[in-house]
Amino acid sequence: MAGALENRGAVLVEASPDIVITVTCSITSTADAKTRKALRRARRDHPDSVIVACGCWAQAATESDAVSAGVDILVGNRVKHVIVDALERWYESPGIFIERKTDVVSSVEWDALSLDRPRMLTRAFIKVQDGCDRSCSYCAVPSLRGAHVSRDPDDVVREISRVASFGTKEAILTGIQLGSYGLDGVTLAGLIRKISDAGAVTRLRLGSLEPFSVTEELLQAASDSEIFCRHLHLPLQSGDDGVLRAMRRGYDAADFIRIVDMARRYLGDDAHISTDLIVGFPGESDDAFERSLALLGEVGLGRIHVFPYSRRNGTDSSAMEGVPGNVLRERMNRALRVADGLLEAYAAKLIGREDRVLVEEVGERASSGWNTRYVRVYARTESTGNCLIGNELVVRPKYSNGSILLCEGVDGEKIIMYPDE
Ligand code: SF4
Repeated sequence: MAGALENRGAVLVEASPDIVITVTCSITSTADAKTRKALRRARRDHPDSVIVACGCWAQAATESDAVSAGVDILVGNRVKHVIVDALERWYESPGIFIERKTDVVSSVEWDALSLDRPRMLTRAFIKVQDGCDRSCSYCAVPSLRGAHVSRDPDDVVREISRVASFGTKEAILTGIQLGSYGLDGVTLAGLIRKISDAGAVTRLRLGSLEPFSVTEELLQAASDSEIFCRHLHLPLQSGDDGVLRAMRRGYDAADFIRIVDMARRYLGDDAHISTDLIVGFPGESDDAFERSLALLGEVGLGRIHVFPYSRRNGTDSSAMEGVPGNVLRERMNRALRVADGLLEAYAAKLIGREDRVLVEEVGERASSGWNTRYVRVYARTESTGNCLIGNELVVRPKYSNGSILLCEGVDGEKIIMYPDE
C-alpha cells in the first residue's frame, strides 16, 4: 500500500501526516479492543488527517464502529489494492467510505498489490497465499480473510527479483495457510524450486507452515535448494491429543513428532524447528498442559511463541469455559520458562558450527544478524571490515548467552564476525 501511494506521488513521513493508514487485527477480542484504541489514538493525535483502517477489523466493522473509532475509510481484505482510488474519491467528496468485498469467504481473487522495492534492506516478506479453508475452533481468520487463494508463481518470482535488485538477500514467503499454496500445477515445493532456480536471493525462508501440510515433496524441494534456510516454523498449539481435537487442528501429538522427525531427515538434525503454543485453551487440564510441555522438550523445539488463550467472539471455542485466570497466569509463566530453556539449549547446540549470518545491525561496539537457522548472532565490532548491513558472513559462534550466539573471530578482539574468504 505504501508503494502504491508513493507511485501516485505520496511521501512517507515520520510526523504530521495527511493520511494515517492502520493495518488492523481481529484475531482475538483483545486484538479488536487494541485496534479500536489505536484508531482512536490516531484520530486524537492527527485530528485533521484522513484515517484509514484496513485489514481484518475493517472487514467486520460496521459504519457506526468506524464513526466511533474516528475512521474515515474502511478497506476490507482482498481489496487493499483500491486504497489509492478510495483516498482520491475521499478528497473529492469527504465522508465515510467503506470498501469491502461482501463475498470474501468465497472469493478466490488475488489482491493485486505488489512490492516495487523492499522496505527493509536485508529481507522482504513476499505474500504468496491468502485465506484459509480450515476451521480451527478458536479462529476467526477464515471468515475475515476469506477462502484459500494462491498468487501467480511467475508474479512471485518477478517480485523477488525486483526486491533483490535493490540488494535484498532474503525472501520470506508468507500466507495464512501457506502449505496449501498451489496454482497452475505449482505447489509450494514447486515454488521453492522456481525461486531457487531464479537465483535472485541468497536466502529463502517460509513463514508459519501448518504441520499437516508438511510433505516429503516439500521437504525434498527445501533440501535440494541451496538457498533454503534450515528453519521451519510449525505451529503446534498444544501437545495434548484431547485439546488438539477440541481445537480441530487436524493432527495429534504423534503426528507432530513424526513430522518433525521427517523434517530433520531432510533438513539436518540441527535444523531449527520453532513453534506456537496456546496456553489455557478451554478444557486444558493440568495433565494436558504437562503433556504439552513434555512434548516441546521431547521434540527438541527451539523458539516457542507462547500465547495465552484469548476468546474471540463468534468462534466455536468462545462458548466453552476457559481456565481460571490464576491458573492461566501460572501456566504461562511455566511455559515461558520452558520456552527460554529450549531456545537456550538449541542455541548451545550451534556453538562451533559454521553458518552464514545476514548482518542487520552494525554498531560501534556490537553487530548482529540472523543465521540461516533463525538464531540471533552477536559480535563485537572493533573493525567492521565486511561486517556491513546486508552482507552475509560466515561465522563460527564461540559462545552462547541465553538465546543468542556470540562470535569471536580469528584475531580475538578485532573483527569478530569474519568473512568467508
Ligand atoms: S489453519 Fe486454523 S488457525 Fe490457521 S488460519 Fe486456518 S483456521 Fe485459523
